[in-house]
This record gives sequence, structure tokens and C-alpha cells, in this order.
Amino acid sequence: MKRRAKVGKCEVAGLTAVILCKAWVIYNLPATEQKDNMEKNTVVGAGLVGSLLAVYLAKRGEKVDVYERRPDMRKANISAGKSINLALSDRGLKALRGVGIEQEIIDISIPMKGRMVHMTDGTVSFQPYGKEGQSILSVSRGELNRKLMTLAERHANVTLHFNQRCTGVDLDGAACTFVDDGTGVETVAQADRVFGTDGAFSAVRGRMQFLDRFNSSQQYLEHGYKELTIPPTADGGFRLEKHCLHIWPRGNYMLIALPNLDGSFTCTLFFPFEGERSFASLQTAKDVTAFFGEVFADAVPHMPTLVEDYFTNPTSSLVIVRCSPWNYKDKALLLGDAAHAIVPFYGQGMNCGFEDCTVFDELADTLWDDKETMFSRFSSLRKPDGDAIADLALRNFIEMRDLVADERFLLRKKIEKALNERHPTQWIPLYSMVTFSHLRYSDALDYGKRHDRIMEEVLGWPDIAENWDTPEVMRRIEEVAGLGGN
Ligand SMILES: Cc1cc2nc3c(=O)[nH]c(=O)nc-3n(C[C@H](O)[C@H](O)[C@H](O)COP(=O)(O)OP(=O)(O)OC[C@H]3O[C@@H](n4cnc5c(N)ncnc54)[C@H](O)[C@@H]3O)c2cc1C
Repeated sequence: MKRRAKVGKCEVAGLTAVILCKAWVIYNLPATEQKDNMEKNTVVGAGLVGSLLAVYLAKRGEKVDVYERRPDMRKANISAGKSINLALSDRGLKALRGVGIEQEIIDISIPMKGRMVHMTDGTVSFQPYGKEGQSILSVSRGELNRKLMTLAERHANVTLHFNQRCTGVDLDGAACTFVDDGTGVETVAQADRVFGTDGAFSAVRGRMQFLDRFNSSQQYLEHGYKELTIPPTADGGFRLEKHCLHIWPRGNYMLIALPNLDGSFTCTLFFPFEGERSFASLQTAKDVTAFFGEVFADAVPHMPTLVEDYFTNPTSSLVIVRCSPWNYKDKALLLGDAAHAIVPFYGQGMNCGFEDCTVFDELADTLWDDKETMFSRFSSLRKPDGDAIADLALRNFIEMRDLVADERFLLRKKIEKALNERHPTQWIPLYSMVTFSHLRYSDALDYGKRHDRIMEEVLGWPDIAENWDTPEVMRRIEEVAGLGGN
């Protein structure tokens, strides 16, 4: 009925048609989107977090303009940057559920039930991530980002602007300057507030760094990363077990592989920049073939384009960013990597950024009319969690590249699994707290440190590897861990 009305009016020639069409659009907007006194929000960066945040803001009935430095990835053939695929888990899923897109994303994901550890001698062992039925999801970064952008654009009060690089922010005036990198044209977007979701090298955070008492630090790892490929088999199948995150832990470095829907795996080599075995030391095709043949021997037959990939794909760095506060009055707020860039070893960077959106929305339920309080509460609430997941991610690098192949670590895992089965609510392994729960990251880290202390003591007991599962020793472990009934 409404659609027919639009077509009919637009048949009238000239100006009348334009006016009537505009009137139709306004008439047909949902009630929340018809206000002319809508507050204006500028979101800088249409990456994963910016696109999702735009949807949460749109649901509050405000005008949202999202400015993205790159071209529209739904039209241009550009990579989504960083990793081709990533691990999505419960925190991220909750945020996607909040905007009704969870199932659509699950449908384009591959569940990974655990780690498949590949040893140098070619033996493999499977380590489940959690309990039966628990898994993390491998999802294409590009597809996820595209779907979030499209969802944002479905709201009439959201506009995405592409090729718009933020070059300056007037924080008090909530005005951002953007330059179109193609045309060089500069525009100023005036709003009521600015959200910095422009990633680890955020221009919004860059401006906030000039504020009095704004703390900020940036730390690069000695390791970088390079993406490589395991293509599908000739008939489109998976060359390795599909429902796993594959790891080749090698002490100071590692290779990992996550499955893609087309049967391929995206591999990432995390490797020192410098040193005897490093990006710097692999200079020729012969170096690469010899190195991979020696240390990742079982992966090499599945990597027919290894040498080409190695020399074509970029070597990228890994950075940790910490800052505080994340807000400037009620004028600017940082979310996602702009506030807390972390290393990727817990698969939580995006999940944490998505959780920012959940927490933001929960606070907005009660504080939306007092944004200064809301923004500063968001900052003080989330900052310890951003710091905690940064620490946890670094810790997990050591676990992934080194400990997953360590007997003592595996024994600890077995004991912790038994404790969790006997006391499911009192002893939850750290990985599960981070990945499969909504406990604050800072609380998970505290529990994790307590677990370390207890397990350190237990693993020091004589013959623990042989007798840990005897009733008597298990009782002693429970005593030390302060575990009673359940
Ligand atoms: C190798 C690797 C693997 C990873 N794996 C995982 C994983 O498995 N699970 C997980 O949860 N996390 C993972 N992460 C982390 C995850 O990629 C980030 O946490 C996530 O992308 C953060 O999203 P964001 O939107 O905050 O920032 P970004 O994804 O960086 O998006 C920022 C956006 O802002 C735009 N932008 C930047 N500057 C400007 C400007 N001046 N003006 C306008 N626009 C601008 C950028 O073009 C981009 O689109 C991984 C990271 C890396 C590097």
C-alpha cells in the first residue's frame, strides 16, 4: 500500500515529485526516526566495532553518521585488513544477539571445538576448549564487517560515509575534520558527540593525547605475523580436521590455522622480527622451504603456494595500546581497539570490542540522559577489563606457542578439568571464564592468578603425575583449593 503510494506520486513530473517522494520517506520512517531534533553522533571508523556501535546508537533513535577511511568493502575489492578470519566467542555473540544478527553470523561460521596441536615429529593431539558442546567460531572478518555495515544502513537514521579519513577532532565542539583521500576534499562534521572506533592507531585517541592527564602507552611485540594459505582439496574439502584451531607450537614462535567456509585454512605465522630464526633470517625461497620443511613438516604438503604467499603477503606488527580515560566529558568516547588494542592470542580483541557495545548499551538504559556520567562510568568500568584482557592475551601467547606441548601444562589441564567436573560452579578453568562466560575480564584474571598459585603448589608434590587422580590426592587438592560440596 505504502509502496504503491510512492510510485504513484513519483510519476508526477519535476519538483512536485521530489517533494512528494521526500514526504513519503519521512512519513514512512519509524516513529523514533522522525524527530527533527535528533541528536547527532559521529562514529569514526566503520570496522567491526564502529559498525556494530552504529546499530546500537540507531536503536536509541539518534542520528548516526559513520565515517570510514577506506572505500566501501561491499563494493570495492579490498581486504578487511588484519586477519582474514577470526575467532568469535560468547562475549561477541551476546553483542550480536543484542542487535538481532547472532544467528546470521553463526550461519556463516565454522565451530572450532578445540586445539589440534601438531608436534614437530608429526604427531597430533586434540585439546578441547571447554565442555562437550562448547566451541569458538571461525568467521570471515570481511563478511562479518559487511553484514554489520548493511545492518547499520537498514536504519534510516544511519549514514555511512566512505573514503573519509579523520584528520582532526575539535573535542569541545564535537566536530571532526575528514579528508576524502581520492579527491582531497575536506569536510567538517558537526555533531553532539564523537565515538572513536578507528582502531589501534585511532585519530580520535590521537587528539585526546593532547588533553591534560590523559594517559596513553603503545608497546610493540618483538614478534610480527604473516598470513599464509592452506587451500581446499581439489573437490573443495578440508585438508585438515575442519572443526579445530590448528597450532604448531615451536617455543618462541608458532603457526596457527583457522578454517574458512570454502574449505581453505588461513594460517598465521607468529614469528620474531629479528634473530636466528626470524622474518629477517628467511630471505630466499630456499630459506623458507628449508625452514618450513624442518619445523612445520606436516603442514608443508598442504601449502602449495607457501613460497609465493610468504613473499607476497605483508609482515605485520603487533601492538598493545592502553589509555585512560576513554572519554572526554560527554563529547568523545573511545571503544574497541581505539581504547584497548591487544595482541591476538586469546582471540578476544574483537570480542572485547563487541562487549564494549553491550556494556555501553546497558549503561545507556539508565544514563542516556546524563551522558557525561555515562561516558565516564563506561570508561572507569571497562578500563580494568581492557587492561586485564591485554595481560591475559600476552599470557596466552606463551601458552599457545610453548605450553600446549608441555607435559606439566597438560597435567595441570587434566587436574583442572577434573576439579571443574567435581565443582562446576567453584572451579572454572581460566580459558572458559574468558571465552565462554560474561564474567568481567578483570575478575577472570584474578581467579586465574589464584588458580596459578594453587596449581603451582599441587604440581610441586612428589609423584603428582602418577597419583593425581587417586581419591586421597584429589581430596588434598580440593582442600588446598578451598573446594567443598557444590
Ligand atoms: C592477526 C590478528 C588476529 C586477530 N584475531 C582475532 C580473533 O580471533 N578474535 C578476536 O576477537 N579478535 C581478533 N583480533 C583482534 C581484532 O582484529 C580487533 O580487536 C578488531 O578488529 C577491533 O575492531 P575495531 O573496529 O575496534 O578496529 P578495526 O577493526 O581496526 O577497525 C577500525 C576502522 O577504522 C578505520 N579507520 C582507522 N583510522 C581512521 C581514520 N583516521 N578515519 C576514518 N576511519 C579510520 C579503519 O579503516 C577500520 O575500518 C585479531 C587481530 C589481529 C591483528
